[in-house]
Amino acid sequence: METRPTLATVWLGGCSGCHMSFLDMDERLLELADRVRLVYSPIADPKEFPPEVDITLVEGAVTNSENLAMAHLVRRNSRRVISFGDCAVTGNVTAMRNSFDVGEIIETAYGALSDGRPVRPDDYSSVARLLPRATPLHEVIPVDAYLHGCPPTADQIWFAISELLAGRIPAFSNIYLRYG
Ligand code: SF4
Repeated sequence: METRPTLATVWLGGCSGCHMSFLDMDERLLELADRVRLVYSPIADPKEFPPEVDITLVEGAVTNSENLAMAHLVRRNSRRVISFGDCAVTGNVTAMRNSFDVGEIIETAYGALSDGRPVRPDDYSSVARLLPRATPLHEVIPVDAYLHGCPPTADQIWFAISELLAGRIPAFSNIYLRYG
């Protein structure tokens, strides 16, 4: 019977740099594979976020409707949710667009429609709708731990996961944890 704890990683409004740093754990990934079962991740096959995940690392700010729905699903289905990297923790680079109007952003990025009308958010029904602001993860769901860095280093990620698997709060100067 499978007894390893489960680990998931999620990519919301981020650049994937935090996940690249995760991969930078290099040979430690082999040890991690012995210790956990990776049940969902951009670097794995599963397409549906599963129930009853023990630890979920979430990269990126919440910037569109899909991010928001995913954040709530992650919270419902995860025992521990870790805000993974500065975009998830503070909004960081992703939140730089917050000083601009969403309509202006889309119009600038995509230009006018073929009939000459300016592009507005409602014109994009087939893509995720941008939220008025990109927000840190903890503004939309409760978060259990904060892992700072842009990106966090492989050593920080390894340390945080190892401590969480041991049921401990990492005593690391730039990792802040809240258990409740
Ligand atoms: S924290 Fe830095 S590395 Fe991570 S998603 Fe944001 S910009 Fe990219």
